[in-house]
Amino acid sequence: AARDFALAGRRTRDDTMKITGFELGKLRIPLKMPFKTAIRTVDHMEDVVIVLETDTGHKGFGSAPATAVITGETHGSIIEAIRTIILPAIKNEDIQNLNHVVDLIQGSLYKNFSAKAAVEIAVYDLFAQSLGAPLYKILGGGEPVLSTDLTISIDYIDKMVQDAVDAADRGFEALKIKVGKDMRVDIERVKAIYAAVSDRALIRLDANQGWTPKQTVTALRELENSGVEIEFIEQPVRGNDVAGMKYVTERVTTSVMADESSFGPREVIDLIQMRGADIINIKLMKTGGISNAIKIADIAALYDVECMMGCMLETAIGVSAAAHVAVAKANSITRVDLDAPSLATVNPVVGGVAFDGAEISISDAPGLGIEAISELSMLNFDKAAAS
Ligand code: MG
Repeated sequence: AARDFALAGRRTRDDTMKITGFELGKLRIPLKMPFKTAIRTVDHMEDVVIVLETDTGHKGFGSAPATAVITGETHGSIIEAIRTIILPAIKNEDIQNLNHVVDLIQGSLYKNFSAKAAVEIAVYDLFAQSLGAPLYKILGGGEPVLSTDLTISIDYIDKMVQDAVDAADRGFEALKIKVGKDMRVDIERVKAIYAAVSDRALIRLDANQGWTPKQTVTALRELENSGVEIEFIEQPVRGNDVAGMKYVTERVTTSVMADESSFGPREVIDLIQMRGADIINIKLMKTGGISNAIKIADIAALYDVECMMGCMLETAIGVSAAAHVAVAKANSITRVDLDAPSLATVNPVVGGVAFDGAEISISDAPGLGIEAISELSMLNFDKAAAS
């Protein structure tokens, strides 16, 4: 009887799901209106898409945009990193050994966080599919509905006020105002928008590294003194100026959020310990994927620091993965800035996560729940060369 018990407890090997190959594609979607920040203007979003193939016929989806000014990656570098280094490192591995596969991805090359994120997203999609549950449940569960803010691009004051009013009319209860160009004009921008919509929407600012530490303190004190209540100021100073972030955080009442100053868990620990930020903006394309995003959410929770889940200008594949993580880690991820699908003219991703204005809701389909992706143009590579 003891022997039978031992046999029954031994895991059979017919429940494996091995990675057999991959396909890469590109997804290019025009925006409803140009996206303007202190450092760039773009009129479309374009992702590299990975379709991870397995011996069970399941397919996992992942994606990454090229945000060269932030992560240093281009579509070319993402494609090369995935096909020549990351995928060969995990080929023939069993998806059920999730932690091992994640270690292989993270250890395969230095940096290249967006390339790693695209592959990790596909791996987590498959892992959850192999267990027959939506990803957020595999990550610990939660209420599968989120409310996102909407970004208001930097522009002439009248245009920004109109965009803010339109967004409030569409039901967005938090607006992220892009500033960081000319500080004096920025203050006027914020005052005008605040006067127009503050009774209906929370106002967040993102300066995208556009101000100096002293300018930031001046601007925020003026706003604070004139009765303009800002929920937080995101990345006012250069990302690598952590001392500048600390300088600002010490001197203003408004909460300071780190975006470009915070990539992986180590930067988050350093920032929190030196009090260089009050809130952390987590983006899968900065952390290298889901595993480090989870670590950051847990580290922040330990320190009673709150996080926001953000995204790049990217399609609903990667943003869906971010939504699953935000739901599962809602104890520390208290804010959601996953508006990229709302900025696009169409959502090419069918199934899984619904992006309906401010509301994001996740279905109970296994994994990310992606059924199809339209507009996807596959890239032709000699698969044998990468194996
Ligand atoms: Mg930002």
